[in-house]
Amino acid sequence: MTISSSSEDMRGLLLRAFGFASFRANQEAVCRAAIDGRDALLVMPTGAGKSLCYQLPAIAREGTTLVISPLIALMEDQASKLEALGFAVARIHSGMDRAASREACVAYLNGSLQFLFIAPERFRVPGFAEMLAKRKPSLVAIDEAHCISQWGHDFRPDYRTLGQHLPALRPAPVIALTATATPIVQDDIVKQLALRDAERFIHGFRRENLAVEVVEVAKSRRARFAGEVLGDPERRPAIVYAPTRRDAESLAAELSAVFPAAAYHAGLEPAVRERVQRAFLEGRLDAVVATIAFGMGIDKADVRTVIHTALPSSLEAYYQEIGRAGRDGKQSRTVLMYSYADKRTHEFFLERDYPPAPELDRLCRKLQGGPQHVEDLRQSLCTGKSAMDADTFAKALEKLLIHGGASMDYTEEVTLGHKQWRDAYAAQTVRRRAQIDMVVRFAESKQCRMGALVRHFGDVEEARTPCGHCDVCAPEACVAQRFREPSAQEREALQDVVKALRGGGAKSTGKLHKELFPRDEMARTEFEELLAGAAMAGIVELEEAGFEKDGRSIAYRKVSLTGEGEVFDVRTMRGMQLKDMSESVTQSARKDKRKRSSGGERSSQAARMSSSPKPSVAKAAAAPGPEAAALEEKLRVWRLAEAKEYGVPAFCIMGNSTMRELAMERPRTMDELIAVKGIGQAKAEKFGAAICRICAE
Ligand code: ADP
Ligand code: MG
Repeated sequence: MTISSSSEDMRGLLLRAFGFASFRANQEAVCRAAIDGRDALLVMPTGAGKSLCYQLPAIAREGTTLVISPLIALMEDQASKLEALGFAVARIHSGMDRAASREACVAYLNGSLQFLFIAPERFRVPGFAEMLAKRKPSLVAIDEAHCISQWGHDFRPDYRTLGQHLPALRPAPVIALTATATPIVQDDIVKQLALRDAERFIHGFRRENLAVEVVEVAKSRRARFAGEVLGDPERRPAIVYAPTRRDAESLAAELSAVFPAAAYHAGLEPAVRERVQRAFLEGRLDAVVATIAFGMGIDKADVRTVIHTALPSSLEAYYQEIGRAGRDGKQSRTVLMYSYADKRTHEFFLERDYPPAPELDRLCRKLQGGPQHVEDLRQSLCTGKSAMDADTFAKALEKLLIHGGASMDYTEEVTLGHKQWRDAYAAQTVRRRAQIDMVVRFAESKQCRMGALVRHFGDVEEARTPCGHCDVCAPEACVAQRFREPSAQEREALQDVVKALRGGGAKSTGKLHKELFPRDEMARTEFEELLAGAAMAGIVELEEAGFEKDGRSIAYRKVSLTGEGEVFDVRTMRGMQLKDMSESVTQSARKDKRKRSSGGERSSQAARMSSSPKPSVAKAAAAPGPEAAALEEKLRVWRLAEAKEYGVPAFCIMGNSTMRELAMERPRTMDELIAVKGIGQAKAEKFGAAICRICAE
């Protein structure tokens, strides 16, 4: 008896067949669509429980469900879980011998399977698709469906042809599943697979327990910085993503001097990789330093920190990678380090990975005489006069295959394809460039990080609520940010900014800079930092904007006054903080152990200005008691004396907010002192003894 899509029936099956008492968010609606025979596109983050969304309908609809999955490891994992539940499962992929594959095909044709897992490259084998079509499946599930889209970050040429084979497998509904698809990728999946009236389920991108932090750090300091962040055992286990294999190796070596750590990248023997992965899963390694190859399909719940030591190549990849933190629901942190140089690196790779069209033409010309084995093709192009280098050859061929300019069968014979590859290739290059621009904009943005990510994945409504944890919402709780007081020049500039914006609307920050500093009296980067500080203090609002020019999108920022900014007076301003790019982050490792504000709420200007950089009501409410106030006063007297002695203004000795912190925390030992926000190594050495003495009085 087939099972209907009534809640009762579905719940019964959920418990009986899968042992789950209730559906998770969204699962029921997706299952209903699939059981009722409708196509669906499901975009939910990793770990949300997507598999069940095809597995339950599979059982409800009876017959055999085909599951296309791009990675053998993922396939094996899912297949064996289903076997353990007692279902009839078979798989066909390149890791199996011929006899086993044949057996699977026979079982499929007999109708004795409930699930057949297939690797996409199987469709390259002549006759395979026809064989499948001999017996209609009752459901087709395409896992990791973003791999089908050339706009996706993980495009696989073998996924491209899937759309061609689906009509023969109809009328089965098709359900496409992925953890990562921006609206453009979603459209592309629907188009490529020719899904019919597909219902889209896009859900769950907000991660409540992740504090996303982005910090500008010079390349030379990143390794040390990563070590500092992870110095605190509570920040481990951790995954660190490094841009190159060499970086991964050297950072892993450095970290393993302090705690067990290992590198993981595609250049290692499979056995070594396997060992590292297992050791990490079993808790014998505290950190893995990986290139992008790590983590797909791994399920370790207690990862406390994910660090990126360089700007990731796309926001989709970034989101997936940070998503590996805090699967157990506990507070976790992600730290992304970047600098402007990272953008240049990505542009360099872009040029390397996307050879100019004339190089692709050279391959096409060689193929005009008829199909060639890939090795012969390489030989003829990569030797002799004006030889193509092997990397360019590989990239050029890959691009032709992706865009249909050539095709390759399973014996690696390459055949010339159609001529339309050119437009598609040009579009892909533009798209890749836009992806880089988007990560750069994300890193440089001054808006809630989680909000920006959620919006990126198409959930605009959900993006409006600030997360309360990130470096924009709760800078004081961050491990990687440092703050300082504005200089006299900066205060003056701020006054000018307020004046220029008063009564008017939003202005582009670039224009405003030119207007106020026509001769670059204040550098643009400093000006942007000042605006960021003003935004943090609630005086101005910054907004990312963009326009199209010559087919490229140009990003810029707009600044406007907030209601508070309209009545703001710099002369009565107290305690505004700017991000400090110069100081190191030596003692940051202990910082967020301290009590953290709940964050997220907006507070009055008064609260924000007097006790910033803590913009939340909760923290501002923790105003100093009489004892702390008395101590703060004592510290002020001491500071004034020091300032006189050094012949500098008082705030050069120590900022107001640091004084406030000291008064509240009352450190009595050097260790306690160094844990106070705003106290660096240098300050601790210079003034530590005096401060501890005053605090102990
Ligand atoms: P995804 O494919 O979205 O990354 P999975 O399908 O692998 O996630 O599911 C993640 C985990 O959640 C699995 O261990 C699965 O058994 C579990 N799970 C899925 N649905 C439920 C449910 N309704 N109740 C309890 N656990 C569930
Ligand atoms: Mg999955």
